[in-house]
Amino acid sequence: MSPQHSSQPGLYLHIPFCSAVCPYCDFAVMHAAEAKRKRFVEHLLAEVALAAGAWRDPRPFDTVYFGGGTPSLLPPEDLGRVLDACRRHLTLASPAPWVYLEANPEDVTPDACAAWRRLGVRTLSLGVQSFSDDVLRFLGRRHTGNQARAAVEVAHAAGFDTVSVDLIFGLPGETPEAWRRELATAVALSPGHLSCYQLTIHPRTRFGVGAARGELTELPDADQAELFDLTHRFLGEAGWPAYEVSNFAKSPDHESRHNRKYWDHTPYLGLGPSAHSFAVGDASVRPRGAGDTGAAVGARRWWNEARIPRWERRVAAGERPVEGEELLGPQALATETLMLGLRTTAGVDLDDFAARYGLDLLATNDALVASLVADGRMVLRNGPEGRRLLPTSLGLAVADGLAATFDVSLPS
Ligand code: SF4
Repeated sequence: MSPQHSSQPGLYLHIPFCSAVCPYCDFAVMHAAEAKRKRFVEHLLAEVALAAGAWRDPRPFDTVYFGGGTPSLLPPEDLGRVLDACRRHLTLASPAPWVYLEANPEDVTPDACAAWRRLGVRTLSLGVQSFSDDVLRFLGRRHTGNQARAAVEVAHAAGFDTVSVDLIFGLPGETPEAWRRELATAVALSPGHLSCYQLTIHPRTRFGVGAARGELTELPDADQAELFDLTHRFLGEAGWPAYEVSNFAKSPDHESRHNRKYWDHTPYLGLGPSAHSFAVGDASVRPRGAGDTGAAVGARRWWNEARIPRWERRVAAGERPVEGEELLGPQALATETLMLGLRTTAGVDLDDFAARYGLDLLATNDALVASLVADGRMVLRNGPEGRRLLPTSLGLAVADGLAATFDVSLPS
């Protein structure tokens, strides 16, 4: 098992502030003055202590992810206080967990990088989005293309284990040539990791309102598909093969250990407004037959209040700020396992799937798998490590739709 496949839990800390809210963003974020950010940090410290009493998994967290929002807006001293609280109240891996920090290019300076490195940050994830000033203006970003390039270089010089670059494609009117230029610029900077996200226009954003008024036209599906295909071909040939629908790494060492947990059903604890958590083995959802083996497959997912004032009020009252939860029995978990697996190039381990859920996916979907293999969307590998169903890049392009065509009904 590679280090990217650890079964130890991960910790996510949501920092909900941005210097300006981008017109396409539907995350739980806001612009806030320094006093508000300071107050937030005090509440986050309190939530860490509250969570410690409720988190039952005794294994140490081996990843800590500062996401948002823009965590780089918080002073390093405050990030350090949060990490200290995590060390005090929760169990972090020894000698240190792998710490991730999302940063905006305009916050990346040699001094800031040195401070983040002293905190133990190993992956710096840069919200570059584009290297073109026109595109950055359209996206409402505050940095320029030159600042984005400089940020990657400064981060490299600071010695992070992995520098990751986020890009967005599929903008209204974007051509393959323009997108190819973005990819070429990114590759020339040689980051360890790249994330390429397709622009989604959410209704309750400024872009969504513009689209509803006809001021903004989404790129047609066929053009989106062409850009997706270009991304995978270009990065694969350049030496950054995909390991997930939107994620590309120069080598397996640069793959995200933390995000892998979301795709593998590995437990994670999320703190901060809107953060999600996931724990396995809840006795109330123990699946059929599992009592005999002790292999608990049931799970629980819960999420925090997204509205910052509510989240703060509940934390201040000494309450965990959980807004909702769902219990996942074997059927829901089996369906998710297939869906998440088909979004990664590691695919679905068919023997593990059968052992967990009592369903041989291949036997119940033989005609479907045969046709998917025949039309180049999937590969069936039968090697010393067992049987695996792997999506090709054609399959990755339609991963969610593919998963929906499978019969995953567990035997009653
Ligand atoms: S920087 Fe990221 S999280 Fe913040 S508003 Fe823009 S897209 Fe949203």
